[in-house]
Amino acid sequence: MNRILANYHTHTFRCGHAVGEDKEYIEAALNAGLKVLGFSDHTPMPFPSGHHSGHRVPLDKADDYFYSLSELKKEYKNDIEIHIGVETEYYPDTFELYCEYMSQFPCEYMILGQHFLWREEDGISSFHKSDDPEKLRSYFKNVLQAVKTGKFLYIAHPDVINYTGDIEIYNTETRKFLKEIKKLEIPIEINCLGLSDDRHYPNKKFFKIAAEIGNRAVVGIDAHSPELLSCKELHSKCIDFAKQTGIEIADNNYLQL
Ligand SMILES: [Zn+2]
Ligand SMILES: [Zn+2]
Repeated sequence: MNRILANYHTHTFRCGHAVGEDKEYIEAALNAGLKVLGFSDHTPMPFPSGHHSGHRVPLDKADDYFYSLSELKKEYKNDIEIHIGVETEYYPDTFELYCEYMSQFPCEYMILGQHFLWREEDGISSFHKSDDPEKLRSYFKNVLQAVKTGKFLYIAHPDVINYTGDIEIYNTETRKFLKEIKKLEIPIEINCLGLSDDRHYPNKKFFKIAAEIGNRAVVGIDAHSPELLSCKELHSKCIDFAKQTGIEIADNNYLQL
């Protein structure tokens, strides 16, 4: 693959840490020559505990998110294929309740972004450095459980767990995880934002193992600004990253919704 024509990982200002109007994202996608643009902002999520999450679309902005994007989808229907989804974590205790809540919206797809390990209220983030193998195992276990629900289009930044411990343990656990993922046939994402920000992901070790196992990958821009969508240099960087690891990406990054 040498061109990205589809991207399913796009945020909006409503999550509180992305910038730009919805329309600007669409215009940027058109400038980059994208044919498919999927919005997947950090999902609105009710917490029975009353927990307030500061990094996602607030509950009272959920209608606006779906309404605004649905209108733009119609407006731009001759120029670009727009899809409306969300990026969500999987919390086993409340996932059913969450799905029930989401059923009121015209949500076309979900991508899994496991930013917290088990419960958001604990504040145990997948991004935090840790050499504890139990956290690594816990992360993989939870992601696997999430994928088995059959609700997700793909796994966003599957390598977000910031494990700094023994490399042999990392390799063994990652291999075990990716073999299961392969059986479930769900794509894993090479995250553009991580690459552009020089974060600990996308992780070459992770994707080299995935390439050996034969997992399928997809590039996700994870745009928190319109500029990231239109940055062709960054798209090429992602494609190069894939080539260096040997992982296969679907033709022009298209996925079946
Ligand atoms: Zn994410
Ligand atoms: Zn994201």
